[in-house]
Amino acid sequence: MDSPAQNARPGSLRLTMLGSGTSMGVPSLGCNCRVCHSPEPHDNRTRPSILLAAGGQNILIDTSPDFRQQALRAGLARLDAVIYTHGHADHILGLDDVRPFNFKQKQRIPVYGNSQTLAILVRTFAYIFDGAPTLSTVPAVELREISGPFEVAGVLFQPIPAHHGDMDVLGFRFGRGAYLTDFSEIPTASMELLHGLDELILDALRDRPHPMHSTVANSLEIVRLLAPRRAWFTHISHDLPHEATNARLPENVRLGYDGLSFEVSLR
Ligand SMILES: [Zn+2]
Ligand SMILES: [Zn+2]
Repeated sequence: MDSPAQNARPGSLRLTMLGSGTSMGVPSLGCNCRVCHSPEPHDNRTRPSILLAAGGQNILIDTSPDFRQQALRAGLARLDAVIYTHGHADHILGLDDVRPFNFKQKQRIPVYGNSQTLAILVRTFAYIFDGAPTLSTVPAVELREISGPFEVAGVLFQPIPAHHGDMDVLGFRFGRGAYLTDFSEIPTASMELLHGLDELILDALRDRPHPMHSTVANSLEIVRLLAPRRAWFTHISHDLPHEATNARLPENVRLGYDGLSFEVSLR
């Protein structure tokens, strides 16, 4: 399979949704519900992550526990940077699997996140950061704290601060696209940064309220206010069957799914 990096045209990037599921994945272990047993491939959701390919480089947003399988499925041939939304387990635990790209590219991989996320990485992956001599291989990464807009692979990233329960998290805007997984509230100042979008990917866990996540109804209201050309839901739980949920959504709003891929204009 071609690397996704080979698919992006100049002036745009190619976005691939590597994972569209909630923290436990769908199916979730031991669950007998109809979505967890669905034969429909779109109901099979790995943990949330997207891949952005631009100018021959690949940028990963979050390293989910499913990163290895996601990268195999996407034919990922190189990795140039990782950008983290926040430090929850379902978004970071795949970090160890960047090692093959360290070997192949013979370079450290820059890792971007807010100060809290970087602190969680250092704590969770003590074996990477403690500097202790080891005979085994550990990921070679370089931590870069996000304190404002930043550029990776020629793409300008605008951080979008949001609240995820009591945690401060980041979404990101890149050209006419934006990715906001894991939030319960988007502050007004951040909403101002999200106008004029072609593609908006946002958290919509389920219909029932959750203290840390947006619901279908809440995310539909955000889509109404921001009026992107298209919106895609992510971080989807087993409460939402793919076909039946799409059937009740407005035409420009769809459930995201593993493998969803499209170009985003950077102009
Ligand atoms: Zn999550
Ligand atoms: Zn989270």
